[in-house]
Amino acid sequence: MEDKILEVKNLVKYFDVGKADILKAVNDVSFHIFKGETYGLVGESGCGKSTIGRTILGLYEKTSGDVWFNYENVHGLSEKEQFALYRKMQMIFQDPYASLNPRSTIREIISEPLEVHGIFKKKKDLMNRVYELLEEVGLSRDHVNRYPHEFSGGQRQRIGIARALALNPDFIIADEPISALDVSVQAQVVNLMKRLQREKGLTFLFIAHDLSMVKQFSDRIGVMYLGNLVEETDGEDLYENPLHPYTKALLSAIPIPDPDIEEERERIILEGELPSPINPPSGCVFRTRCPMAMDICKDVKPVWQEIKSGHRVACHLYDQNYKDSPPTGPQRTKEMEEEEIQA
Ligand code: SF4
Repeated sequence: MEDKILEVKNLVKYFDVGKADILKAVNDVSFHIFKGETYGLVGESGCGKSTIGRTILGLYEKTSGDVWFNYENVHGLSEKEQFALYRKMQMIFQDPYASLNPRSTIREIISEPLEVHGIFKKKKDLMNRVYELLEEVGLSRDHVNRYPHEFSGGQRQRIGIARALALNPDFIIADEPISALDVSVQAQVVNLMKRLQREKGLTFLFIAHDLSMVKQFSDRIGVMYLGNLVEETDGEDLYENPLHPYTKALLSAIPIPDPDIEEERERIILEGELPSPINPPSGCVFRTRCPMAMDICKDVKPVWQEIKSGHRVACHLYDQNYKDSPPTGPQRTKEMEEEEIQA
């Protein structure tokens, strides 16, 4: 059996946003990540995927649930134990412009985690490690005394990756690491992460809103909607056999390079806005935009269940009791209405 490096069990994260309002960012989310794999977490912005990453790392306190890292309960450890554990987990942030201190040199930025953890006693050893890290991410040791503003977006993200690698972590949470970069640079950064993963046996949680990019980099993918995990399977299966109506809509929005196939293809346009996580819909959170919604979807939250080996989904269409119910939701497609009229 494959070895799990991370297990997230029934994780809940709510934020008190004042005036008696509670923002339900993450609702009862469970998933696990095997050693050496990349798990992609995808969904629209505001769906809670970054909150999960930050809660795993302890940057946010969980509301309830558990996070296990190498079979140790992260939130049950003493401060000292957590400090040691977090050496093994690092984060690459979305915005390479905002995540690097503009007043620090590259040497200071990369050496900071090494100094905080007291890894080297001699300055010469510390500097050699900084040079080594710069070269690992495709930069030069001559860059060491420069400031972040002297670099391009892609180079800054390389600096962020070098800093994340400084402590030799086993697990990296990459939170939208390429979405602030030019398209031409995105592939270079993804290729760099893939190479480092191969060479160092790293495990990644890759968070992104772009399903096509997640697929390129991920072994398995979890799809999130409004704080809930709605589907999970491996990248190939998600593309070939998507089950959840939301996944199908996300996939239908990805352009296909073949103009003939692209012209023939039916786009699923989701009507309406993403509801507020302060006041999410009852039952299935996707029901206000789902073309397949049924009466049951309003009252009963669908169960997160495994439909076939490794393929999980939360949708009443796959419940034995409800799967044959006709769609009654407000967002039925024209095709459905036409079929009904013809019948
Ligand atoms: Fe949710 Fe119902 Fe649509 Fe399934 S069919 S996604 S349960 S609204």
